[in-house]
Amino acid sequence: MSEWEKNLLDIAPYVAGEQPDNDKIIKLNANENPYPPSPAAEKALRELKVGELNKYPDANAMPLMEILAKMHGLTPANVFIGNGSDDVLALSFRAFFNSKKPILYPDITYSFYPVWCDLLKIPYKLCPVDENFRINSEDYYPENGGVVIANPNAPTSITEGKDFIVDILEHNKDCVVIIDEAYVDFGTYSAVELVSKYENLLVTQTFSKSRSLAGMRIGMAFGSEKLISCLRAVKDSYNSYPLDTAALTAACASAEDEVYFRHTVLKVMQTRDETAQTLRGLGFKVMDSATNFLFATHPDYTAEEIFMYLRENGVFVRYFKKPRIDNYLRITVGTDEQMKRLCELLTKLITG
Ligand code: PMP
Repeated sequence: MSEWEKNLLDIAPYVAGEQPDNDKIIKLNANENPYPPSPAAEKALRELKVGELNKYPDANAMPLMEILAKMHGLTPANVFIGNGSDDVLALSFRAFFNSKKPILYPDITYSFYPVWCDLLKIPYKLCPVDENFRINSEDYYPENGGVVIANPNAPTSITEGKDFIVDILEHNKDCVVIIDEAYVDFGTYSAVELVSKYENLLVTQTFSKSRSLAGMRIGMAFGSEKLISCLRAVKDSYNSYPLDTAALTAACASAEDEVYFRHTVLKVMQTRDETAQTLRGLGFKVMDSATNFLFATHPDYTAEEIFMYLRENGVFVRYFKKPRIDNYLRITVGTDEQMKRLCELLTKLITG
């Protein structure tokens, strides 16, 4: 077999949560928001001038960059827009993790990181989280080629605070530190305020979770002008336009609807906390979640058993057959009604 064939076959792609073609399935397996996007986004899409789709969109999604920059007290030169944060992260790995030294990230984290490392031939070293899935900041002190940390972390759902992030940044001044904040809006500290202080910090976020726009693929990064201009150069070497006109229209309207955003995020958090309580009452160990999902295990039933049982009963959750977490389930927070059904099924299984 030729070398190029061998290299291609070596790549194990990221596996996303299943998308069943059946409305009756309760889908709690992809950390999507159960509520629709802001009505303002719907209105803007309905008013979209289809006749103008003959034109290319704004090359840098400038209207959205301006809104996001203002939101965080930054300038558009500190904001980068991409097709979902997966796109932003992949471009960032390409742009910043170019040293021969390994990049560092936790052994339990977003499973796309090793995929990009393998694809882009970036050396990496895994830093084991402790028995409670907490990340130890000291693991990130040794010299390295870059750091990437999801905060809150996925699939563990737990979060670290400002001191932790600052500690990582203070010990990593010579490499780029990426903080992946896909779930940050569900109740934790955001490091965006630190980008004006640390020139090597890049914070990525998404419209897929807290803004209910996973279907439109909108992600962003905040960083120093130096990092953002480098990211733009890499993107412009691959493709010329980040968001299509429809996505840009929906994103701008959604970003400006703060009231709906707060309302739905709070609702998800409330449902999350109530569900966690119910699951704990059934004997589950549930991590303290700062996200829109719960990470849980039960002493008497294997995660795989529960996963299969729920699946047979029309509720899809996520199960990762991976070392250290193969007895845990990742359960996305749905509507109250969906979580009620989940809890009813689990009560039936556990209490008979
Ligand atoms: N980071 C983390 C930790 C995630 O769980 C996800 C969602 N799969 C993403 C980034 C990417 O989200 P998106 O591309 O939809 O913005």
